[in-house]
Amino acid sequence: MKITFLGTGTSQGIPVIACKCNTCLSKSKYDKRLRSSVLIELNNKNILIDAGPDFRQQMLKYKVVKLDAILITHEHRDHIAGLDDIRSYNWIYKKPVDVYAEKRVIDLIKTQYSYVFSEEKYPGVPEMNLIEISESPFFINDIKIIPVRYFHFKLPILGYRINDFAYITDISNINNEELEKLKNLNVLVVSALRKKPHISHFNLNAAINFIKLLSPKIAYLTHISHLMGKHKDISKELKKKYNLHIKLAYDGLIINI
Ligand SMILES: [Zn+2]
Ligand SMILES: [Zn+2]
Ligand SMILES: [Zn+2]
Repeated sequence: MKITFLGTGTSQGIPVIACKCNTCLSKSKYDKRLRSSVLIELNNKNILIDAGPDFRQQMLKYKVVKLDAILITHEHRDHIAGLDDIRSYNWIYKKPVDVYAEKRVIDLIKTQYSYVFSEEKYPGVPEMNLIEISESPFFINDIKIIPVRYFHFKLPILGYRINDFAYITDISNINNEELEKLKNLNVLVVSALRKKPHISHFNLNAAINFIKLLSPKIAYLTHISHLMGKHKDISKELKKKYNLHIKLAYDGLIINI
């Protein structure tokens, strides 16, 4: 399984428009973060988690010429704003793209992209095959996907486990039963917004406590705000404390599991 981090930034990305903080002004490529998304390549399938506003740029930059499925974590714009651009895959492969999400999220996609689902379709609209999922495991061909339920402030949303890899973003709380689904991981990706606490996201400490509780072989932090600081500084702090067991992800990072 090959995982490519297409974006590791929070909803505003880094740099933030018009911001003059040190992180936003940094010249390092590690401080350029598109909105969070990962591409999973497994058994000849290309599975994307989330399609935010940088979807087009990400597909071009990482030369993703085939897209078999998109798993959506939740309905916030930084996770679904790119769905209109699946049109290119529709044209080339002459079929809709499978989009997996839970019922509330499907309903909101239908509202936000009402022109796509209207009775009289405008020519050339994106074609998505919306597939409703729950907290129960499902399959994409022979690939087992295990949805993991957690909370983003009060909003119940989903992360995903595939084999020994799990992707948990925009989390602020999780129940003990769901934690069971995240045992014995090789790689855990979890969001860590910044150092200061936040009402709807794990901060750095909360993400680290979560990682310690689950003890995966290695953990990567994503969905990062400019307020976290520069990649180089945070990476140095993490290395000192956790000796490469917990790392800050960056755009373009590739891991093979
Ligand atoms: Zn988000
Ligand atoms: Zn900034
Ligand atoms: Zn969110």
